[in-house]
Amino acid sequence: MSAEFPEFRLGSVLATSFTATLTERRGEPVERIPTPRRLVDWLVVSGLDVDSCTPAQFDRARELRESIHAAATAAALRNALPSAAVDIINDCSARGRASAALTPEGARRWRLSSPSRVEDALGVIAADAISIIAGERDGRLALCASPTCQAAFFDTSQSRTRRWCEMNTCGNRQKKARFNAKQRKESASSE
Ligand SMILES: [Zn+2]
Repeated sequence: MSAEFPEFRLGSVLATSFTATLTERRGEPVERIPTPRRLVDWLVVSGLDVDSCTPAQFDRARELRESIHAAATAAALRNALPSAAVDIINDCSARGRASAALTPEGARRWRLSSPSRVEDALGVIAADAISIIAGERDGRLALCASPTCQAAFFDTSQSRTRRWCEMNTCGNRQKKARFNAKQRKESASSE
């Protein structure tokens, strides 16, 4: 594990794990895939086995990421979907040539047409984004309650009341901020 890059935040939903490679979008943004090599690492840990990535493929990947972010945010807010973002998602989906394969153990594995075909991996991610934005999957798109984050995430909790994209980061930070504010208030009133 390389210490020179910020670590990944992997969730259970591929499309929003991908948008979470850029975090703190409304604060001081943290880019978790700053180089093509780092994108390759992210794709591999996400079950999309590519072995290389050109600068053009890298640009395309980040363009898809921002398009998913824009479309998912609009969907969470019940706004009209931005058409430029929809076009990029659809284009990436159409260019992908990955196929789903069933392993003998009963798991799904993605097979890319070649390990250098980043486009195949992007197609899988785009299709995943389409399925959540279209409301086909069991869950609800929502925006993280942290003011410096506001990431779109897919809430699959039973009650559909999840407030943060990730409990361990945004959730804890919010709780700590509230606790500190309360402490300050209490010490101010006891003076
Ligand atoms: Zn968040």
